Amino acid sequence: MVARPRSAVVATPDAFPPAGVTAVVFDVVGTLVEPAVAVAETYAAAGRRHGIDLDAATVARRFATAWRRQESNDAAAEIPFATSRDRERERWREIVGDVFGPHAAAAAIFADLWAHYALPEAWRPVNRGAALAQAALNAGLAVAVASNFDERLLAVAPHLDLPASAGAVFPSSEIGWRKPSQAFFRYVEQRLGRPPEQLLYVGDDPELDVTAAMAAGWRAMLVG
Ligand SMILES: [Mg+2]
Repeated sequence: MVARPRSAVVATPDAFPPAGVTAVVFDVVGTLVEPAVAVAETYAAAGRRHGIDLDAATVARRFATAWRRQESNDAAAEIPFATSRDRERERWREIVGDVFGPHAAAAAIFADLWAHYALPEAWRPVNRGAALAQAALNAGLAVAVASNFDERLLAVAPHLDLPASAGAVFPSSEIGWRKPSQAFFRYVEQRLGRPPEQLLYVGDDPELDVTAAMAAGWRAMLVG
């Protein structure tokens, strides 16, 4: 990771990391990295390659609706927010299906997009999150990432300079739970061998990252 000026870390540098915290766990998408190209543009381009011409605004609208439908499905499941590699893959297959509708090329578009977001070049760093991670490392804290991502994160993480060693990258598909499940946070606690009050979760989503982490007894910080 490229070191960034300390002044870019936080407005009040002495507030980070908070006293008593021994490990900082970062969300990934929107916190440490973001898509290098707008998702709607990437989807629209994938559609065009397979003969479906949708403008990015239409894709963006459909994607947002599709995303919410998946979140609702997980919340309403018999075991809410339980997940797996299969469930995560199915989530994205359904989102792509919702965006493009029934079409002979749907499977090929899904395969294209699944492969695309497994590539390091699909992502770019989020400077504020990266600076916080560097500050945590400078302070001698353990740093991990835990994300509602799937197993593709394990392959791509080493190429993204994520501030965590290979053993401290926790995608939901491997945890077996998605945020906001408390089980997501309990799993990470156990893997890090630390009690919740020593853990700080940093993320860009007020509900999934901040409310959920605090409900689990962690401290939380909203970025972005
Ligand atoms: Mg996020």
